[in-house]
Amino acid sequence: MSFSQLTDVPSLPAMRWHVSLVAAAAAVAIAAVVATAPAVAGDRAIIDTTRSPQATMQMVDLDDVRWTGGLLGERFTACHDSMIPYLWTVLRDPKESHAWDNFLMAAGRGEGRGDGRPHGPPFNDGDFLKWLEALIQAQAVAPAETAAAMAAVQGPGVDEIIAVIAAAQRDDGYLHTPTIVRQRRSAADAKEFADREHFETYNMGHLMTTACVHHRATGKTSLLDCGRKAADYLDRLARERPEELARNAICPSHSMGVVELYRLTREPRYRELARRLIEIRSLVPADIGGDQNQDRIPFRESREAVGHAVRANYLYAGVADLYAEDGDRSLLEPLLAIDRNVETRKRYVTGMTGALYDGASPDGVPAKLHPAIKTVHQAYGRDYQLPNLTAYNETCATIGYGMWLWRMLLVSGEARYADLFEETLYNGILPGVSLDGRSYFYVNPLRKLHDFTVPLRWSRTRMATIPSSFCCPPNVARTIAEAHNYLYAVSPDTLWVHLYGSSTLDTRLPAGDRVRLRQETDYPWSGRVTLVIDEAPEGELAVKVRIPGWVRPGAAAIRVTGEPVAEPPTPGSYATLRRHYRAGDRIELSLPHAPVLVEASPLVEETFGQVAVRSGPLIYCLESSDLPAGVRLSDVILSAATNDGGLTTKAATIAGTAVQAVVAPGLVRQRPAWTSDALYRAAEPARAQPAQLTFIPYFAWGNRGDSEMTVWLPAAWR
Ligand SMILES: [Zn+2]
Repeated sequence: MSFSQLTDVPSLPAMRWHVSLVAAAAAVAIAAVVATAPAVAGDRAIIDTTRSPQATMQMVDLDDVRWTGGLLGERFTACHDSMIPYLWTVLRDPKESHAWDNFLMAAGRGEGRGDGRPHGPPFNDGDFLKWLEALIQAQAVAPAETAAAMAAVQGPGVDEIIAVIAAAQRDDGYLHTPTIVRQRRSAADAKEFADREHFETYNMGHLMTTACVHHRATGKTSLLDCGRKAADYLDRLARERPEELARNAICPSHSMGVVELYRLTREPRYRELARRLIEIRSLVPADIGGDQNQDRIPFRESREAVGHAVRANYLYAGVADLYAEDGDRSLLEPLLAIDRNVETRKRYVTGMTGALYDGASPDGVPAKLHPAIKTVHQAYGRDYQLPNLTAYNETCATIGYGMWLWRMLLVSGEARYADLFEETLYNGILPGVSLDGRSYFYVNPLRKLHDFTVPLRWSRTRMATIPSSFCCPPNVARTIAEAHNYLYAVSPDTLWVHLYGSSTLDTRLPAGDRVRLRQETDYPWSGRVTLVIDEAPEGELAVKVRIPGWVRPGAAAIRVTGEPVAEPPTPGSYATLRRHYRAGDRIELSLPHAPVLVEASPLVEETFGQVAVRSGPLIYCLESSDLPAGVRLSDVILSAATNDGGLTTKAATIAGTAVQAVVAPGLVRQRPAWTSDALYRAAEPARAQPAQLTFIPYFAWGNRGDSEMTVWLPAAWR
């Protein structure tokens, strides 16, 4: 039986792109459900765990936190002033992205290129929806600034965009503009789920997620109606043709989307759908399934991260969401094993994941049957396989890793997840966009040398557009637009402080008590943080402040209203400060950090004998722009007596952004250039001249032209 025989979508005359009476009735029903759900603090968070049985905490509402400066605050400003309007100009440009044109054509409101065909990659819809999510979130906390920036590029309003999306969506809930545009021309021209690489469920998943954010930000149901229709479509498919759905449900953003929709609507069918989406993965036939899409074996048998890293991390994040709702330990156990596998074997020092452009998975086939070995792409490697020059590290994979880590934190309350999340945010996600917000990395190497000219399919220089795959730019924009949501969380009588950044908080505890405070800090450039309480509950409040794992034991200190806290805070945990707080009370944290050198396990062959520079949560790199004239990056050695000996910091400016650079003692080997074509030559003792090396934060690299760069350097210990 073929895909087309399995497909029983309504015949075309029955499918019209206007809102049918049935859909209108459904919209009223949804509005009623939403309107009658009692509002509770945190149910307008981007992830709502207010009623999740397994969650240890809940996020604050999506407009409870405002940046007041600092590095992440500056990035947010760049997001609404530059990234979001700039991405609109790309997404609407038919020569670049086609995303908006495809929606207009599917809605019957545009001609696209005039050839009546959709253009661009099949996951364009989802990428457009990620951008819309960024726009909605930015408008929720910076409405005037975001509106002005969008007006400057003649951008449409959110309501206008949603009207087009709603018109493009089929009455049965299916939304994938490439197929719908073709179906508008001829029924015979396109079938749903003709190819699993069409990413239909991925696109619908982003519709659900953006719909939840939109409803929580505005109270409107216009996009929620679309998200719910898409979920209902998948729900029918999961019941009626589960194998077909399983085969085509790759890159499962829809797992997260469905759970979030459940949290918003409390419709049990959606929680059950989330479970089915995991269960049906075992239905994928062996000839189609494989490690590339994590469907070689049932999820419950998985113990390590495999295959396409974006798809893997989205799956793991979705499973964590499902576990938060149903507490199924048979899901948690593999998740914890995979999490451990990534943390201890497959994660770059920058918090990035997905080492390989191309590889192979020999698992699951008898070793002698080489023809049965399947390829993997954009994928997790084997344990300790972490190349630098050829690292793939798609920005989306690291964003997926961050989403997964955050959900593990919500469930577990363990500080190590917040540590990993912070490391991933600063060093894995921020580098994905230039400081001016207008050019992007799709792949993220940890070393770049001009002489290494091997074509690797993707640019290792920032690009203004990525025509064939525009997934990363809007993904990094929405993450930066939403970064303020990750600073705090609440649980009964408790305020959690996960991340540090200059900001204000105005929120409520689960019982309704209001908490207002200001966070004053120049973190991550220093570890001095002051929380000034502006309003606190009458009763006791526990403030849990994270002591990052990178703080040296015994170095952290806390004072509350001037009094030192007796118990020394333990790095890698939350210090609990339970008090009757009053307005004006101050919590002062000292999280001393100075630059240090770090090394990797000797099993990571590609970093053997090398060190990297870290200061607080930031990983640093050496860029050729900062080397003396005539010095080759490959001749530079870091020279140190101790792991922090001789490392100092100094103020620097990169592309108009103030950063803190690290100055370190180094050596420059005096050796002949490698001018021949030979692979090897006799090694000669090379004299070395002392040199002062200036490292910049890794997130800021690639902003001064096409430079060479390395995170790891050979170490000479004096
Ligand atoms: Zn991407």
